[in-house]
Amino acid sequence: MEQITASEIAGFGVGTLLLCATLAAPRIDAFISASQRSSLGMCKRCGDLRMIACSRCKGLGSVKSGGPESFNLIGDLYESLGGESKMKPIACTKCQARGHFSCPDCSQIPSV
Ligand SMILES: [Zn+2]
Ligand SMILES: [Zn+2]
Repeated sequence: MEQITASEIAGFGVGTLLLCATLAAPRIDAFISASQRSSLGMCKRCGDLRMIACSRCKGLGSVKSGGPESFNLIGDLYESLGGESKMKPIACTKCQARGHFSCPDCSQIPSV
Protein backbone atom coordinates (compact mmCIF):
# COMPACT_ATOMS: atom_id res chain seq x y z
CA MET A 1 0.00 0.00 0.00
CA GLU A 2 1.43 3.30 -1.04
CA GLN A 3 1.59 6.20 1.28
CA ILE A 4 1.24 9.75 0.07
CA THR A 5 4.21 11.75 1.23
CA ALA A 6 4.30 15.44 1.96
CA SER A 7 6.46 16.05 -1.11
CA GLU A 8 3.87 14.37 -3.29
CA ILE A 9 1.19 16.63 -1.92
CA ALA A 10 3.44 19.63 -2.53
CA GLY A 11 4.10 18.44 -6.06
CA PHE A 12 0.41 18.08 -6.65
CA GLY A 13 -0.16 21.65 -5.48
CA VAL A 14 2.56 23.02 -7.74
CA GLY A 15 1.19 21.03 -10.63
CA THR A 16 -2.24 22.49 -10.09
CA LEU A 17 -0.79 26.00 -9.96
CA LEU A 18 1.14 25.40 -13.17
CA LEU A 19 -1.99 24.07 -14.80
CA CYS A 20 -3.91 27.18 -13.79
CA ALA A 21 -1.15 29.37 -15.19
CA THR A 22 -1.21 27.41 -18.44
CA LEU A 23 -4.94 27.82 -18.73
CA ALA A 24 -4.73 31.55 -18.04
CA ALA A 25 -1.79 32.18 -20.38
CA PRO A 26 -3.69 32.14 -23.70
CA ARG A 27 -6.03 34.82 -22.42
CA ILE A 28 -3.17 37.06 -21.38
CA ASP A 29 -1.45 36.33 -24.67
CA ALA A 30 -4.60 37.22 -26.61
CA PHE A 31 -4.85 40.50 -24.73
CA ILE A 32 -1.26 41.47 -25.49
CA SER A 33 -1.23 40.27 -29.08
CA ALA A 34 -4.33 42.32 -29.92
CA SER A 35 -2.41 45.54 -29.45
CA GLN A 36 0.63 44.06 -31.17
CA ARG A 37 -1.42 43.08 -34.17
CA SER A 38 -2.87 46.53 -34.64
CA SER A 39 0.59 48.08 -34.49
CA LEU A 40 1.79 45.55 -37.07
CA GLY A 41 -1.08 46.36 -39.38
CA MET A 42 -2.55 42.88 -39.04
CA CYS A 43 -6.20 42.15 -38.65
CA LYS A 44 -7.15 43.02 -35.11
CA ARG A 45 -9.68 40.26 -34.88
CA CYS A 46 -7.82 37.28 -36.26
CA GLY A 47 -4.23 38.35 -36.81
CA ASP A 48 -4.59 37.55 -40.52
CA LEU A 49 -5.62 33.98 -39.83
CA ARG A 50 -8.92 34.78 -41.56
CA MET A 51 -10.77 33.00 -38.82
CA ILE A 52 -11.60 33.66 -35.22
CA ALA A 53 -12.01 31.06 -32.52
CA CYS A 54 -15.49 30.53 -31.21
CA SER A 55 -15.84 32.30 -27.90
CA ARG A 56 -18.31 29.79 -26.59
CA CYS A 57 -16.38 26.58 -27.11
CA LYS A 58 -12.95 28.25 -27.32
CA GLY A 59 -12.17 26.65 -30.65
CA LEU A 60 -12.91 23.13 -29.54
CA GLY A 61 -16.17 22.76 -31.44
CA SER A 62 -17.82 21.22 -28.43
CA VAL A 63 -18.95 22.47 -25.07
CA LYS A 64 -19.66 20.66 -21.87
CA SER A 65 -23.30 20.52 -21.05
CA GLY A 66 -24.55 21.98 -17.85
CA GLY A 67 -23.37 24.94 -15.85
CA PRO A 68 -21.72 28.24 -16.67
CA GLU A 69 -18.14 28.59 -17.86
CA SER A 70 -16.64 28.51 -14.39
CA PHE A 71 -17.96 25.00 -13.95
CA ASN A 72 -16.50 24.00 -17.28
CA LEU A 73 -13.11 25.26 -16.17
CA ILE A 74 -13.29 23.20 -13.01
CA GLY A 75 -14.41 20.25 -15.09
CA ASP A 76 -11.41 20.68 -17.37
CA LEU A 77 -9.09 20.82 -14.39
CA TYR A 78 -10.72 17.77 -12.92
CA GLU A 79 -10.42 15.87 -16.17
CA SER A 80 -6.79 16.82 -16.73
CA LEU A 81 -5.98 15.64 -13.25
CA GLY A 82 -7.22 12.21 -14.21
CA GLY A 83 -10.77 12.46 -12.98
CA GLU A 84 -13.84 11.61 -14.91
CA SER A 85 -16.02 14.51 -15.82
CA LYS A 86 -19.71 14.12 -15.29
CA MET A 87 -20.35 16.70 -17.95
CA LYS A 88 -20.51 15.30 -21.46
CA PRO A 89 -19.25 17.39 -24.36
CA ILE A 90 -21.92 18.44 -26.80
CA ALA A 91 -21.52 20.04 -30.19
CA CYS A 92 -21.26 23.80 -29.95
CA THR A 93 -24.35 25.39 -31.46
CA LYS A 94 -22.77 28.80 -31.85
CA CYS A 95 -20.17 27.72 -34.39
CA GLN A 96 -21.89 24.55 -35.65
CA ALA A 97 -19.15 22.49 -33.98
CA ARG A 98 -16.51 23.98 -36.27
CA GLY A 99 -14.75 25.75 -33.43
CA HIS A 100 -14.23 28.91 -35.43
CA PHE A 101 -15.87 31.47 -37.66
CA SER A 102 -14.50 33.13 -40.72
CA CYS A 103 -13.25 36.53 -39.68
CA PRO A 104 -15.88 39.18 -40.50
CA ASP A 105 -13.09 41.71 -41.09
CA CYS A 106 -11.22 39.52 -43.56
CA SER A 107 -13.96 37.48 -45.20
CA GLN A 108 -15.45 40.51 -46.90
CA ILE A 109 -14.56 40.21 -50.55
CA PRO A 110 -13.78 43.59 -52.06
CA SER A 111 -16.44 44.46 -54.62
CA VAL A 112 -14.10 46.64 -56.65
ZN1 LIG B 1 -18.24 27.07 -30.78
ZN1 LIG C 1 -9.46 39.10 -39.73
